[in-house]
Amino acid sequence: MRTIETTSLADAGAAGLRLAGASLAGREGHWDIAISGGRITALAPSARRDGGLVLPLLADIHTHLDKTFTASRMPARATSLFHAIEMMQADAALWDDADLRRRAGRGLDRAYRHGTALMRSHVDWYGATPPAAWTVLRGLADEWQGRLHLELASLTPLDLFAEVGEAIAGEVKATGGVLGAFIYRNNDLEARLAHVFDLAEKHDLLLDFHVDEGLDIEARGIDAIVAETERRGLSGRVLCGHGCALSVRDPSEVADILARAGGAGVGLTVLPGCNAYLQDARAGRTPRLRGLAPLHEARDAGLAVMIGSDNVRDAFFPFGDYDLFDAFRSATLLGHLQPEDWLDAVSETPARWMGRSLALVEGGPADFIRLDAEDLTDALSRPRADRQVWRGGRILTDHEGEQT
Ligand SMILES: [Zn+2]
Repeated sequence: MRTIETTSLADAGAAGLRLAGASLAGREGHWDIAISGGRITALAPSARRDGGLVLPLLADIHTHLDKTFTASRMPARATSLFHAIEMMQADAALWDDADLRRRAGRGLDRAYRHGTALMRSHVDWYGATPPAAWTVLRGLADEWQGRLHLELASLTPLDLFAEVGEAIAGEVKATGGVLGAFIYRNNDLEARLAHVFDLAEKHDLLLDFHVDEGLDIEARGIDAIVAETERRGLSGRVLCGHGCALSVRDPSEVADILARAGGAGVGLTVLPGCNAYLQDARAGRTPRLRGLAPLHEARDAGLAVMIGSDNVRDAFFPFGDYDLFDAFRSATLLGHLQPEDWLDAVSETPARWMGRSLALVEGGPADFIRLDAEDLTDALSRPRADRQVWRGGRILTDHEGEQT
């Protein structure tokens, strides 16, 4: 068995190797990681301390691959969420199969190289038949299987469900997806939401909502979602994304709804990048409010709390590279997160929500991220710290995963 020095990490074959003296996220001390046949064969305490920092692979549970890499086509910088939606819908005229495949494929490729193994993408869906993006992304999901597991969630304005909800739910079920809706201050909210839940129960579908993505204290979609989840006993099946309005509502009201959400097994995805960019945006004025959902309070109340990339390089958010570790870096600053306590929010918590695990265990696949850093704070402090992505016991090279 060879001991791998930090300077000679290439050529990790099936013969067996040992990554010596690594610190492991979530565990005290330093460890020797023995790898053979693409699996971790042993984890043992190490006297060495120079093996860098090893993290599990990442799970990005909230992205928008259909919209991605369109920022350069936008006529203006978005001044609000609804301005971004308008520009995005105009751009959708250009979304033919080749355009979608090129942009979404680039997103998957970037995510894979940065160390993401699991992803869920929302897909805009307004009619009775699936949009081209749903079909193209399903094809890409098949092509990427074994490297990056991609789930799709439909994204439909709540008010369209009466007309097309049944057709969408049936198609989502037939193609293994998740049912989703966009909810913001809708009229007749309870009845319309009950219809979405009826469809989810009828077709045995998981739910994933865009809810209350704004700073109006009257935005209370999450209250209705929690009430339906409680009433129907759908613990672990209902995920709420954004929840920006929770950041400005009365704190005791928020504490109450979070307690009920925790009890009902509702999950929360926080999207700090896009929300910090779009919320409270006005030209020539510094934002005071950042739309960050109360993630500490939510986790304390028992919710599974996750952090996602959300939009990347589009009308909603012109930055990003599907680098979830970089999104985690932003989240630690915006949310005052203790990094070691929150790494799960970009790895094991969303992985479990997707019915999987990325935990590093003896006997498990030798799939992980290794950073040339002493610990997580060191890694977050130095964006240029060398990062290797290990898959099946060897380091990905620059050319692997490349789309043709
Ligand atoms: Zn989103």
